[in-house]
Amino acid sequence: MALIELRDIKKSFRMGDGELEVLHGVSLAAERGEFIAMMGPSGSGKSTTMNILGCLDTPTSGTYMLDGRDVAALDGDELATIRNEMVGFVFQGFNLLPRTSALANVEMPMLYSGVGARERRARAKEALERMGLGDRMDHDPSRLSGGQQQRVAIARGIVNRAPILMADEPTGNLDSRTSDEIMKLFQELNAGEGITIVLVTHEADVAAYARRILNFRDGVITSDVASRGVKGADAA
Ligand code: ADP
Ligand code: MG
Repeated sequence: MALIELRDIKKSFRMGDGELEVLHGVSLAAERGEFIAMMGPSGSGKSTTMNILGCLDTPTSGTYMLDGRDVAALDGDELATIRNEMVGFVFQGFNLLPRTSALANVEMPMLYSGVGARERRARAKEALERMGLGDRMDHDPSRLSGGQQQRVAIARGIVNRAPILMADEPTGNLDSRTSDEIMKLFQELNAGEGITIVLVTHEADVAAYARRILNFRDGVITSDVASRGVKGADAA
């Protein structure tokens, strides 16, 4: 059984009096442990697709099966639960809470998953240490570089131990050297722990870390190709 399966997904947004269809039938199956990059021009439907995959938005038609469950059949609470259990998120703009320590930022997703305070702290520390930020846990985001902020955000994305990590242009605000560092972390999470990674990027250098590349154009997937995903390994 696929971990993720989209079947003929269409998505329309209300525009003035009418509706604008922006996804015209997207189908995709992915197994556990894949590392997928979604590429394509601005406006081609990458983020819309990712929002559906992450249960942040729902399709207008078509079926989304996540870990064997039909997402359309879930109510709001069930959707929040499955999202929390199954998916961690990383965003281009980091989306960390200001004036809040790295540690407290990483603890945040566990507030909704019923993890006790002591366990929350231990897991958040462990995730930050894995991201090389053991000595920055009490810093708030304004005292961290862009790359460090994104590592805090990745720690937050994995702290619930969800099997899927989704990232929308996670290196979009970073210079190329820092981008490479961040992509190596994704690669380690994928290779070392089998975390399924789905990321959006418009940079070929970033997509080169993935093992499968989907190209979007005008609301459909126009190509779906395997990639060696060896960029980071070569560079090491
Ligand atoms: P990408 O991430 O590939 O740049 P998006 O998925 O964000 O593209 O957007 C695809 C299309 O859908 C674009 O034309 C965009 O303007 C439109 N769109 C996205 N979100 C909304 C929305 N909430 N309301 C109306 N149109 C939207
Ligand atoms: Mg986008």
